[in-house]
Amino acid sequence: MSTKLRARLYRPTPANMVFLARVLARGGLVAAPTETVYGLAADALNVKACKAIFKAKGRPATDPLIVHVDTVAQARTIAKLSPEALKVAKAFWPGPLTMVLPKQPGVPAIVTSGLTSVAVRMPAHPLFRRLIRLSGCPLAAPSANPFGYVSPTTAEHVKAGLGKRIQHILNGGASKIGIESTILDLRDPFHPALLRPGAISLKALQSVLGRRIISSLHKITPNEKALPAPGMLTCHYSPRTPIDLANKITQTRINEIPADEAVLLLVKPTYPTRNNVFWLTTKGGLPKAAHLLFAMLRQLDNGRWQKINAEVAPGRSALAMAINDRLSRASAK
Ligand code: AMP
Ligand code: MG
Repeated sequence: MSTKLRARLYRPTPANMVFLARVLARGGLVAAPTETVYGLAADALNVKACKAIFKAKGRPATDPLIVHVDTVAQARTIAKLSPEALKVAKAFWPGPLTMVLPKQPGVPAIVTSGLTSVAVRMPAHPLFRRLIRLSGCPLAAPSANPFGYVSPTTAEHVKAGLGKRIQHILNGGASKIGIESTILDLRDPFHPALLRPGAISLKALQSVLGRRIISSLHKITPNEKALPAPGMLTCHYSPRTPIDLANKITQTRINEIPADEAVLLLVKPTYPTRNNVFWLTTKGGLPKAAHLLFAMLRQLDNGRWQKINAEVAPGRSALAMAINDRLSRASAK
């Protein structure tokens, strides 16, 4: 256990918000909550500040950052918004939706990993939005965790992962959704593609766009030079403990699993279980399961289990797909 953490947690008092915004405006890093997960934010137009994000996370330079904005006007300074992009923005912003669009010339190459496109989102979290407004900066912010590990959904998670590498963490409580944004590739408005599943469903996006969206999931391999969507790395969001996935873990199966392996179910079983059995919800709501998933993976990862036997979410709803996407990446060797 480390005792000399550098990072400090800040409560969202007006004075602290002004202070943290000033840190950002001067090129510093601030970890802050969004409704999806906690982000590690920096001025998206400041090359040095963005470099510091990559350094703190140990993130490869080939993995571009999402730029967070407070208004559509600000989004236009970062990306070129087609009429289709504007329609999507009107329908889903602020919210857990990121669009990949042609970039404006002012966006530094470090943010986009040299791509001609940029990822933009208007988050719904009032504290994150206030940081953008107070700092006057569009904020580049990937998840506030060491590269490849489980994304943080609380300020404590951020401190546990980056506490020795960053100084400022805004504590805004647990992220409501708990899973990263849906990423829609709209570089070509006539050929939209889903790059990462999240809380906003493909169906909802298709109905706003009035056209079919192809799914580019799982088509990208880790060694491609510039990743269209690096969240798409097959192995990502990974605890150290190995994970095995199963469609349904029955009572009989649970009894066969060794006592030094954990069992992660979606819903609390109605039968008595052993102390290696964990669940995400008591009644089975997927929003609750998504909200708790990463915290549970961290808890189990700290529990010295030999393995985590996890059950996948049933159905093909947006959250089921998003949960299963994260579980399958977490389980990839
Ligand atoms: P995260 O670490 O969760 O913030 O991940 C940021 C995500 O944004 C990455 O996983 C990429 O998929 C996506 N992204 C950022 N910029 C671009 C871009 N120019 N083109 C495609 N995807 C992008
Ligand atoms: Mg991430």
